[in-house]
Amino acid sequence: MISSSDRAGPRADAAGHDAIEAVIVGAGASGLLAAHELLRLRPGSRVILVDAGLPLEARRALARPPMGGEGGAGLALGGRLYLGAASLPVMPPVSAPPSMRPIIAGEDYVRRASEIDALLHALGARAEWQPEPPESLARAIREAKAAGVDYITSYPSRRLSPEDKTAALTGLRQRLLERGARFIFGARVTVATHTDEGFLLTLDSAEAPEGAPPVPERLMTRALLLAPGRYGAEWLTRVASDLGAEVIALPRAFGVRLETPAAVYDPLTDVNPDPRLQAALVDDAYIKTYATCPGGYVSPVARYGALVASGVPALRREERRPTTTVAILAQPGVTGAVGAWRGGERAARTLNQRAPGRLTVQRLEDARQRRATTAEALAASPIRPTDPTAAPGALHDVYPDAYWAAFEDFLGRLERLAPGVTSGETLLYGPAEERFWHFPTDAHMQTTTPGLFVAGDGPGQSQGVIQASVAGLLAGEGLAAALASAAR
Ligand SMILES: Cc1cc2nc3c(=O)[nH]c(=O)nc-3n(C[C@H](O)[C@H](O)[C@H](O)COP(=O)(O)OP(=O)(O)OC[C@H]3O[C@@H](n4cnc5c(N)ncnc54)[C@H](O)[C@@H]3O)c2cc1C
Repeated sequence: MISSSDRAGPRADAAGHDAIEAVIVGAGASGLLAAHELLRLRPGSRVILVDAGLPLEARRALARPPMGGEGGAGLALGGRLYLGAASLPVMPPVSAPPSMRPIIAGEDYVRRASEIDALLHALGARAEWQPEPPESLARAIREAKAAGVDYITSYPSRRLSPEDKTAALTGLRQRLLERGARFIFGARVTVATHTDEGFLLTLDSAEAPEGAPPVPERLMTRALLLAPGRYGAEWLTRVASDLGAEVIALPRAFGVRLETPAAVYDPLTDVNPDPRLQAALVDDAYIKTYATCPGGYVSPVARYGALVASGVPALRREERRPTTTVAILAQPGVTGAVGAWRGGERAARTLNQRAPGRLTVQRLEDARQRRATTAEALAASPIRPTDPTAAPGALHDVYPDAYWAAFEDFLGRLERLAPGVTSGETLLYGPAEERFWHFPTDAHMQTTTPGLFVAGDGPGQSQGVIQASVAGLLAGEGLAAALASAAR
């Protein structure tokens, strides 16, 4: 079990805290690459990676892998490496706060991406490069374009096999251990406070694997990188704000989560399990598919102070259910959010007040007719709702008219790619909402709080393994520079 390395054993300071130079919260793509770069530039740095999830072997032993743990979601579960230009700009084509810009772009980005690819290859991830999309995807991209929808992808790419992923992650861990890193798994960082000596972290080790060495309750560190991924974004926002970093809330993406027979969406998901499709709208907004879960199910989750509809993917083909769920979200820019799109940000609260503790589900036909779905109508629906706790009711009256107009237009375009998706029987769940924040940083991911760094999907710098890794690489350079200047 990897939980500590004697080679870089911690020293206790006067208060009994471990004397550590850098703590990295999150052992996903960005955290791992940050540690790798820090230790490449400054071998022997006393760095600890803390992850709430499990090490790779323990993750693999589970019947159902959770999203967090060594390798995060994308490197341990997905394994598609997109090596072309950054595929998903953080805020495409809408207005953004003036300080928001890609940290790295163009040739600089592509060079870093290929460095990461070369590292993973050297560690044993040998999948072939695909210079162009395979014909099935190329066709899907063409068809989307003909329907007036952008299909978001990036090439060249490599698709890692399970063996590739294991080789890359175990090789990376081995190299980090040899260079003096320590890992703590199954420990969630709950609180971080700023003291004169650095950052004091509190750890909750309730999920620590059995037989692992005891997890310290507290860690004190001079430099701190928060890389908790998308699922840790809300926590990150709170902790970084508490530590004094500037955090800017971006306009919410809002809308509904669709549930349709899997066979309807198969033409899209057979080619790519999570096809990202989007279309620009007038009035500073765009509409997009988000978190498609082929054969998955809808689950209510508490997020952003509300109960929202989330999709849970079937991670194995044999686990698939008969329905597919995908969110259809409108993303206004900062100008649009106070204009035509005003009101969407209140939808979650309104729906939660109407149906406390439950999602609302409405048949598409009922939404079109502007009438609530009744329990009887839902019981007669040919699509069995995968969230049996959802309350039949009305969504049509809580979103701005601009949303429904854009939704119908977008769905009409999707109909050409997934015939049947516009059926009145399609179920809509609400509220669906995604929130993103902007963390102003320097070019090495240091926030406005000196010594505090952020990287990856959590702070909205990336939406994919390679993008997150590039952000991690830059943060690793920043950590190395910060430690070097502290040592002077
Ligand atoms: C099922 C799935 C498949 C995907 N497949 C692909 C793919 O094939 N290709 C691709 O490019 N992208 C894919 N993605 C997206 C990809 O996962 C992310 O873009 C990428 O993992 C982001 O890296 P990250 O380091 O920012 O965060 P993550 O990889 O999410 O890692 C964050 C880590 O932080 C830990 N953490 C969070 N909060 C705390 C805390 N408070 N204390 C301690 N630890 C904490 C988590 O346990 C997690 O391990 C996929 C996503 C999912 C959900």
